[in-house]
Amino acid sequence: MQPEQRPIPQRQMGSHRPLPLLMRNLQKRVARCSRCELSQTRQRTVFARGNLQASVCFVGEAPGAQEDAQGKPFVGRAGRLLDEMIEKAGLPVAEAYFCNIVKCRPPDNRRPRPPEVVACGDHLHEQLSIWSRSLPTPASKRIIVALGKTAIETLLGARVDVGDLRGQWKLYRGRVLLMPTYHPSFLLRPFKSQQRSRQQVADDLQRVVAELGIAGASSGPAKPALYVIPGGRGSTP
Ligand code: URA
Repeated sequence: MQPEQRPIPQRQMGSHRPLPLLMRNLQKRVARCSRCELSQTRQRTVFARGNLQASVCFVGEAPGAQEDAQGKPFVGRAGRLLDEMIEKAGLPVAEAYFCNIVKCRPPDNRRPRPPEVVACGDHLHEQLSIWSRSLPTPASKRIIVALGKTAIETLLGARVDVGDLRGQWKLYRGRVLLMPTYHPSFLLRPFKSQQRSRQQVADDLQRVVAELGIAGASSGPAKPALYVIPGGRGSTP
């Protein structure tokens, strides 16, 4: 094997721990977390599901009842719709990683409050940092799909109108491509333009799939041509 063909070892810069172990350690820390009031009412923390080495990371808002019961994100109705739409776009669900902005269910499925989002922020950004460094090579494409207002605003650090912003490539922390789109729960609500919104999400997922170069996908609009350099200076997202 030529040196350039050798797989790049999955190690954290400055540490000798493999990334899956770092992620398991983070998950354990999250499971013990009591930084905000959501820890008082959760059944269990909801960390992630899917493939840590996936090119696409879907970030939702917060776990719901099913997720709280099973300890995995997007396993309820919204998750089933999301999986269906991802597969339809041509991306195998097994090639995706899923997590949420906050790791504990807010009571009555309310939106997480700003202090709860802030309290969970270190966990989230560390999780995304480990994910982005877990891909097979530094050149592997990595894309975050931010689902809904809470995820988009938290990851971009700005107030947004989802309807205006969705479908436009952005950068997370200046380095990782981010596609903002509607949350699947929104698509489950009965409203007049529901079909149109579903089509918009389907279009946004097509942009992601096209950017990944998956066969059969249509090409999307121009996007910022910048990818994360894992382990690069100040690269912790
Ligand atoms: N909604 C979310 O944002 N995340 C989940 O895991 C489930 C529903």
